[in-house]
Amino acid sequence: MALLENLKNWVKNRFSANPRNTGWIVFILSLTLSMYLSYTEYKLRLSIEREEVLFKLNELENNLYSALNNGVSAVKTLGFFAQNQENIVDDFDKIGKGILESNPLVDVIQYLDSGTIVAVYPLAGNETVIGYNVLADPTTNKEVMEAVLRKDVFFSGPIHLKQGGVGIVGRYPIFENEKLKGLSAIIIYMETIFEAGKLNDDPDGDFTIKLTKINPNTRELENYIPSDDKSIATGFLASSPIDIGNWTLSVQLKKSKAFSAGLFTVFLRFILSFAVGYLAWILARQPALLRKKVEEQSKEILEANERFELATKATSDVIWDWDLTSNKVFRSAHFFKMFGYQMDERTKNHDFWKTIIHPEDAVKVSENLEKTLRSDAQFWEQEFRVKRADDTYAYIIDKGYIQRDDIGAPIRMIGATQDISKRKKAEIQVMEANQSLANANEELKVFAFLASHDLREPLRMISSFMSLLEKKYSKDLDAKANQYINFAIDGSKRLTTLINDLLEYSKVGFHPNSLEKINANELVKSVLELKSDLIRESNAKIIVDDLPAIMGIKTPIQILFQNLIGNSLKYRKTDTELIIKISGRVENDFLEFSVEDNGIGIEGEYLEFIFGILNRVHPKEKYPGTGMGLATCRKIVTQHGGKIWVESTLGAGSKFLFTLKNYG
Ligand code: ADP
Repeated sequence: MALLENLKNWVKNRFSANPRNTGWIVFILSLTLSMYLSYTEYKLRLSIEREEVLFKLNELENNLYSALNNGVSAVKTLGFFAQNQENIVDDFDKIGKGILESNPLVDVIQYLDSGTIVAVYPLAGNETVIGYNVLADPTTNKEVMEAVLRKDVFFSGPIHLKQGGVGIVGRYPIFENEKLKGLSAIIIYMETIFEAGKLNDDPDGDFTIKLTKINPNTRELENYIPSDDKSIATGFLASSPIDIGNWTLSVQLKKSKAFSAGLFTVFLRFILSFAVGYLAWILARQPALLRKKVEEQSKEILEANERFELATKATSDVIWDWDLTSNKVFRSAHFFKMFGYQMDERTKNHDFWKTIIHPEDAVKVSENLEKTLRSDAQFWEQEFRVKRADDTYAYIIDKGYIQRDDIGAPIRMIGATQDISKRKKAEIQVMEANQSLANANEELKVFAFLASHDLREPLRMISSFMSLLEKKYSKDLDAKANQYINFAIDGSKRLTTLINDLLEYSKVGFHPNSLEKINANELVKSVLELKSDLIRESNAKIIVDDLPAIMGIKTPIQILFQNLIGNSLKYRKTDTELIIKISGRVENDFLEFSVEDNGIGIEGEYLEFIFGILNRVHPKEKYPGTGMGLATCRKIVTQHGGKIWVESTLGAGSKFLFTLKNYG
């Protein structure tokens, strides 16, 4: 068995070792085999042809003999008569007629006394032969003697007959006391022979037929079957001696088709052998090609695996591969690092995963996963919590790509698990901070509401009572008391302003849904109208550039311009003509505006400070104010996604710049 196996392997290895040689060998073997086959067929065809020639010869021979047999029987019958009847010459007409009637192929019958023709039937047309001595004629005597020597029938000729025509003459010697008494003879014309023997040459037939004889007188070979066919026969030749006349009957195939008939087959077989060789070459190449392909693919797989390994290392995510048919899950090393579990049979099973999902998330996760798998979706994503080995919970985001079979059933899922615990924690913190901010805002609003109502009420009472006091008792009070009353009135007024400013600040709110398109030119124009008294009074020159439209909330934007323009008017120099320039332009995703004045300016160290709540730089006696204006401006700008700052030179002027997010 082992030997057989070795042999098989050896052949297999040889076969695939050199495909080209294998192809050639198979071609040569196949060609040899098919040529041998063709040769065998050729031989078979040759022998069939030979059989055909022999058959034809046999057929012709039989035909010829049956014609000759007529002559033999006729000549022998006459011989019998000649031996047994005294004078047959007298009765020759009767005898000859009877014999010819029973041997229809015989044309003429003669009786020769010794060598001289003494009787002939039919006489008509044959008269000339009477008295002709065949033994005396050197052209005939040899063949006559042949019959005498044989003591049997012998056919001579074909010869030109005395009475005309060509025929063969069959002679039978009659002996009396061992001495030649005479001869019985018959003549069969050649036409009769050819007809009866079917020896006529057929120029269109396959065979050349010859009836030959060596002329005893000339010793030359003569052929008696005339033929128009000049072609030389080359096929198989079969001959048969016809002893009774020293003839040779031969049949030859004009042209052998044994070779030509097989040529096309040979050609086909050559092509076939070549095809078989080619096929063998292709087949022999297959193992090598297959090996190469396998090697390439193995290399690709190895590379892909390596790439996958590296990718799983490169990412901090857990890469997993879940085979839904076996429920087995491959998890990258990060899984064990991320959650602290051991890699074992339990963790390799998908069911393990289900056991560590937070009970509050479990239903949601499994429902969502099952729904996604049932659908034709290709991706699944879910955020949930899973238990670590130390019983704490991690927030994760799990994403998977679903592979499906032909009918769309899920068979495999490949995905990544990302630990988002830190982000989640930060989110929760932000949420909590936002919540407390919202609470504080709410409280502030409540406070502002209370302040606007509850604080203003007693304030109004103070200022009105102070006014009453001033009105009714100012003349009774001394100058100091009146001054105090004025201080109190002034104080309550400023407190009212402060409350109003604080209220305004707290009320500034922003909601993206309330954004509207604002024509900044018009808005600035209306602000300038509001301030027209002050502008006139201060003799200020206002330059307004063409301003871009703003997507924002109108009231806060108006307050913004109002405060900045108001400050420029307020913090002007008394000795210089006030010039205020308002500009705006689109800067990528932002709109940038500026309000520039040539007022008193701000010291460098306060450029940031002045934007704080209640922060002011200049003495309120000279420049009244609450320090809330710029704080409100900053709140408005911030809510519109921008920022505000100031560039200033003390004593030369200030340029307030702010940006707004370009929502348009
Ligand atoms: P106020 O009610 O005091 O004007 P603001 O918040 O509007 O409060 O301004 C804060 C401080 O910034 C002012 O007190 C002033 O000192 C300074 N300031 C504001 N605008 C200008 C300006 N255009 N020129 C000079 N100083 C200014």
